[in-house]
Amino acid sequence: MSAAPPAKPTLSPLAAVKGMNDILPAAVPRKDKLPDSALWLWFEDTVRSVMARYGYQYLLTPLVEPTALFVRGLGEVTDIVEKEMYSWRDEMNGDALTLRPEATAGIVRAMIEHNALYGGPLRLWTIGAMFRHERPQKGRYRQFHQLDVEALGFAGPDVDAEIILLARRLWRSLGLREGEHVRLELNSLGQAGERAAHRAALVAYFEAHAGRLDDDARRRLHSNPLRILDSKNPAMQALVEGAPKLIDFLGAQSLAHFAAVRAALDAAGLAYRVNPRLVRGMDYYNLTVFEWVTDHLGAQGTVCGGGRYDGLFEQLGGKPTPAIGFGLGIERLLLLIQALGLPVPDAAPQAYAVVPDAAALPRVLVALEALRGAGVAVQMHAAGKDGLGSMKAQFRRADASGARFALVFGADELTQGLVAIKPLRDADAAQVLRPLADAAAWAHELRTA
Ligand code: ATP
Ligand code: MG
Repeated sequence: MSAAPPAKPTLSPLAAVKGMNDILPAAVPRKDKLPDSALWLWFEDTVRSVMARYGYQYLLTPLVEPTALFVRGLGEVTDIVEKEMYSWRDEMNGDALTLRPEATAGIVRAMIEHNALYGGPLRLWTIGAMFRHERPQKGRYRQFHQLDVEALGFAGPDVDAEIILLARRLWRSLGLREGEHVRLELNSLGQAGERAAHRAALVAYFEAHAGRLDDDARRRLHSNPLRILDSKNPAMQALVEGAPKLIDFLGAQSLAHFAAVRAALDAAGLAYRVNPRLVRGMDYYNLTVFEWVTDHLGAQGTVCGGGRYDGLFEQLGGKPTPAIGFGLGIERLLLLIQALGLPVPDAAPQAYAVVPDAAALPRVLVALEALRGAGVAVQMHAAGKDGLGSMKAQFRRADASGARFALVFGADELTQGLVAIKPLRDADAAQVLRPLADAAAWAHELRTA
């Protein structure tokens, strides 16, 4: 007598980590309405073409870096380092490691490590995941993705203008209009000495109004008073408005740099608003800082932020190297494109192959390979759990694929060496027959129709 096999335990499915999203094809229905993967690919293609036009080169750096890189690079009293980093100890060797919260520090680390600027300045870009332990909400996630663009070894305002205009080129290539969909905000943070004088005046001002500071501000008063200006507490706004302004502490050189950037943007016909409150979240910035903001996304309205960081190379142990860059939040940008209902390219195949009989498979595959070799995007109906399915079911799939044509490999047509091409989107267009043997000869009818 054989014992009954043990019952299989029911396994409960696992969910993704909170604040970390799957990016999925449009065919997968999802509750969160996040942009589908076709939009991501289109964005990446557009980025590649724009970067090539400006001479920026691609690089990739690790997702994991030594924790010290961010503590030294971003500054100890920034939001990111204080409370947003995923940091841990490597169990094997005790190393302090962190999932990168931003891209610039890792890129600068890599440039120093490889002595990469030995041969002259570099223009670089990368795309990838960043990690911040924030409260997840629309446009704010714990794993999110950035396009990061950096110009390294350039000191002048020319490259500041270039990188801002590159962002505008990207908006235009994606169908976004500057001024209407995204706006540029600009400021100058001057140099360290100027900021120190401003900081002293700021501390004196806030000390004189100590009773009106909230807990956050009181904590930052001596560690990082500049960040008090970034306060989102409405009760602090009047106090912040009246605080000494950095622009009044800038010297002639800083003012000239700022004026040159502005003149270049003016000449390029790019409107911007000078926002003296724009300080940015990282300590490493100096001179030019900017953000591209939108009014169409609610609270998470900054799609792109950046600035000059001439001191960061030295801060990380490298030679003095002027640099500027920006980070763009891809989720926010794609949500914006979606919210505006901008036209995005169609990801559907040009044709869908309907296969009534599995015996036809070898001939079907040969014909489809010939079409693909001739540049046609054609999707084959393949058997599911229950086989190929009825013709009706196959045509339903063909329709859902978005294809303009169904290629029907019916038995009658096949015996004559033919395939039927049935238009799916144009009710007036007639079905035509084409010879299987030389698919490349009529491939253009599917591509260009
Ligand atoms: P915010 O003020 O919204 O927190 P930030 O100043 O921290 O932004 P940066 O460090 O400048 O952001 O990053 C550049 C861009 O990356 C932002 O403008 C935004 O578009 C995007 N971004 C930043 N944090 C997140 C996040 N948690 N989720 C999604 N996108 C983000
Ligand atoms: Mg932030």
